[in-house]
Amino acid sequence: MKPLYDLVVVGAGTSGCLAAKTAVENGLNVCLIESKSAENIGLKACGDAVGKHHFDNVGLAYPTGSELCWELEGVKIFSPDFETSFRIMGLGAKAFMVNRREFGRRLIKEALDAGVELMDKTTVLKPIIEDNHVVAIRVKGSVFSGVLRGKVFIDASGVSAVLRRNAPEVPGFERIVDRGDLEIAYREIRVSENEIDDKTFGHIYLSQRYAPGGYFWLFPKGSNVVNIGLGVQFSRAKMEIKNYFTRFIDEKLSWLNKAEILDGRGAFVPTRRPLDNMVSNGLIVVGDAACQVNPIHGGGIGPSMTAGKIAGETAVKALEKGDLSYRGLWNYNVAYMRGYGAKQASLDVFRVFLQSISDDELNYGMSRKLITEEDVLKASLYGEVKLTITDKALRFLRLVGKLSLVSRLRKISELMKTVKLHYQSFPENPDDFPRWLVTTRKLVETYKTVGMGNI
Ligand SMILES: Cc1cc2nc3c(=O)[nH]c(=O)nc-3n(C[C@H](O)[C@H](O)[C@H](O)COP(=O)(O)OP(=O)(O)OC[C@H]3O[C@@H](n4cnc5c(N)ncnc54)[C@H](O)[C@@H]3O)c2cc1C
Repeated sequence: MKPLYDLVVVGAGTSGCLAAKTAVENGLNVCLIESKSAENIGLKACGDAVGKHHFDNVGLAYPTGSELCWELEGVKIFSPDFETSFRIMGLGAKAFMVNRREFGRRLIKEALDAGVELMDKTTVLKPIIEDNHVVAIRVKGSVFSGVLRGKVFIDASGVSAVLRRNAPEVPGFERIVDRGDLEIAYREIRVSENEIDDKTFGHIYLSQRYAPGGYFWLFPKGSNVVNIGLGVQFSRAKMEIKNYFTRFIDEKLSWLNKAEILDGRGAFVPTRRPLDNMVSNGLIVVGDAACQVNPIHGGGIGPSMTAGKIAGETAVKALEKGDLSYRGLWNYNVAYMRGYGAKQASLDVFRVFLQSISDDELNYGMSRKLITEEDVLKASLYGEVKLTITDKALRFLRLVGKLSLVSRLRKISELMKTVKLHYQSFPENPDDFPRWLVTTRKLVETYKTVGMGNI
């Protein structure tokens, strides 16, 4: 153990491993702290699906051997009444189903091989702040308990966000995330006696009744193994998440009741735009701790790895320049927001809309193809929703009283474009940030109002 590290990373999940590895490869001495034991890193509640393109984005080799369970060509999205299904496939829809533990072990091995020092079975209790700057952390571990010093810190501790919650006050830094922007999720791995139908597609079931403000998924992990679970908007959860899970299986997928349960666990996922400002003095926040999950489908592994890499690079540059204040770390915000963050923020607009529409409206919109399969793929790739409705369709919609749904969808599609452009022009200079933030808050208020139908 060193008396002072260049960089201390808290949490050895996907974001933390990438951040630590990137920084050590660029010459920093790095300590990575993780509460789990080394062999259990990676073991967590997850749908286990990672888009192929995310590996390309961060230059990571594709999973192979025991790390790779299965490959998916795309997803099939079912309307609440099960009457309509969209089949989304193509390059951007291909995904690996990973063995989560093996995947995590690979990431930590790569970080350790590069020279990262791991302190496992050690929990970070809180940051120590001097002159409004994080200078150290207090830890409790099986080998060492006490104070650990670093020049700069990365909070990669997932939704628990142990440093973010107690970070120094700087402009626009959010310590608390709203309950409406969190999903509570639960999943099981089950082995069925029979082969699964359509086993090269992930299945997504939309339903406000069975998964309010979220969705139910069934992802094949083999010809007869599934990862099955759901997310429910936390502010709308009226009962234990496990009860939502059981109700859907009993009523809609009862064949799964005969399948053997290998594992069951739950956790929270943030599903919103990224935190407005993800740096404080001596601190960078990444992954779930920074709310960097795709707000529509809850996939956070890809963006967390991208952000981890940017955070590692930012720490290196800031140390070179000798400025570890939030201003010195600002480039992390710029790089993330102008890249994945812009798409993520525009998808948040669509998330609010989707969470507010009824099952009837969803059935109607999908059966009439107000949005097509191709549009859904484009939305997930670029964060844009196109709407092409003919005059004939409009006359029909007026007749059946569904025009307001279309006009809301139109407004949402325009707002998505506006929000994306706004994030693509995230200010390079922190002095311009307060003005950007005022516009952001107005836009968020507008899309929440339009999305929830209060127009
Ligand atoms: C049920 C469920 C299903 C999901 N399905 C998918 C999916 O299919 N595909 C996808 O891409 N994403 C999915 N996600 C989201 C994805 O798991 C996360 O977005 C991603 O893992 C974020 O990585 P992270 O590194 O930020 O955090 P995590 O992976 O959560 O890592 C945080 C690490 O920090 C450690 N830690 C926490 N607090 C402390 C502390 N105080 N001291 C020391 N260590 C600490 C934890 O033990 C953990 O190892 C799912 C999430 C859930 C809950």
